[in-house]
Amino acid sequence: MELHNGELFWPTTYNDTEKEFDTHYDVAIIGGGMSGALCAYVLSREGLKVSIIEKRQLASGSSSANTGLLQFSNDIMLHELIDQIGEEKAVRFYKLCQEAIDHLEEVAMSVPVSPEFTRRKSIYYASTPLHLPKLKKEYKTLKLHEFPVEYWSRKDMKEHLPFSKTGALITRGDAEVNPFRFVNGIFDYLKDHDTTTFEGTEALEVKEDRGRVLIETTKGKLSASHVVYATGYETPRLGEHIGTEINRSYAIATKPVEDLSEWHERSLIWETNRPYLYMRTTVDNRIIAGGLDEDPAEAPQNMEKIENQGKRIEKEVQKLFPELDIEMEYVWGASFGESLDHLPYIGRHPDMERIYYLLGYGGNGTVYSMLGSRILRDLILGRPNPDAGIVKLDR
Ligand SMILES: Cc1cc2nc3c(=O)[nH]c(=O)nc-3n(C[C@H](O)[C@H](O)[C@H](O)COP(=O)(O)OP(=O)(O)OC[C@H]3O[C@@H](n4cnc5c(N)ncnc54)[C@H](O)[C@@H]3O)c2cc1C
Repeated sequence: MELHNGELFWPTTYNDTEKEFDTHYDVAIIGGGMSGALCAYVLSREGLKVSIIEKRQLASGSSSANTGLLQFSNDIMLHELIDQIGEEKAVRFYKLCQEAIDHLEEVAMSVPVSPEFTRRKSIYYASTPLHLPKLKKEYKTLKLHEFPVEYWSRKDMKEHLPFSKTGALITRGDAEVNPFRFVNGIFDYLKDHDTTTFEGTEALEVKEDRGRVLIETTKGKLSASHVVYATGYETPRLGEHIGTEINRSYAIATKPVEDLSEWHERSLIWETNRPYLYMRTTVDNRIIAGGLDEDPAEAPQNMEKIENQGKRIEKEVQKLFPELDIEMEYVWGASFGESLDHLPYIGRHPDMERIYYLLGYGGNGTVYSMLGSRILRDLILGRPNPDAGIVKLDR
């Protein structure tokens, strides 16, 4: 039964948080996804008064499409990153990713809802024999810089797994998480920590004005000493400062699988191909897998196409685990952003004093959101942060 139709007037005259508009905040964060949540968490721990402005619902952006793998290895291998930005910066970036997983664990332990954070090994296999030399080079580089890594030959793989390739790296200290429970858990925590959230509220205009920032939203105006854009893949382009490529990706969740004992320690599994296939398990024995990235930027609309891509991913997982009874139950496609140099964009706007960006583009987005929140905390509080230069916008 429809109770009414047409465009109602009265609902436009009230919103439940209107009292909080016209208030000054130390920091206003635009975007209520993983980045906004982690940033608000880190800033509120410093005693700052924080607000979050979210045009949809909290955690409803790409954070709800996230497959929840947390790894210190990145889409760009360490030895490749060394070639790109030099040894010191590249190794430091990898160390920051490693530390970020520890920080994510601390956050996960403190929120009132269990985000199913579990430490896992990662298995990073050579997709073709042609990739073996670079995998071996990566092993040597990680080992040299004291990252926890082992090398498995085909024989080692056969001993531990139902599939084998020419070689694989095994890294320790990675983790899996349920990203949706995590983001919502952080927002539950923040309710009791001097943080105000404005859902269904779009930030329309942001401008610096005499030592503060004025934010005009669809529901009212507010001011803040600092503003952080945590708007994910929808962030307006910043001229030449942000080189990104937005494409799209697909993922599936299978029905619970009865016996996952042949899945070595329930490791996170991925490969050297680009785009890569990746997979993990869940607390209720499902398999989550993703890949098949393709060029168009918009999330796919055609359900038949999404289902077909899901079936292709299901087939790839089945090839690796022929004995498992795998049946796709959920499938989704989503926009996915990467930066052209494989590093996230985090830092102050090059020409504005009080406006910051937290853009964790890339397959390790959650790890980037965590390490970036700590960098922004230091920049906002005027503390030195020697790592900020690696990910700054005008690098
Ligand atoms: C299929 C898929 C799988 C992935 N798997 C992984 C993975 O395994 N591990 C990993 O670490 N990362 C993964 N990622 C990446 C991860 O999802 C992203 O890094 C993360 O979701 C980014 O969070 P965010 O908060 O920056 O963006 P979002 O979650 O999109 O949040 C941004 C929010 O900003 C809001 N917004 C935008 N503009 C405005 C405005 N003007 N006013 C108010 N609000 C606004 C949006 O509504 C949105 O809710 C995956 C991504 C995809 C698509």
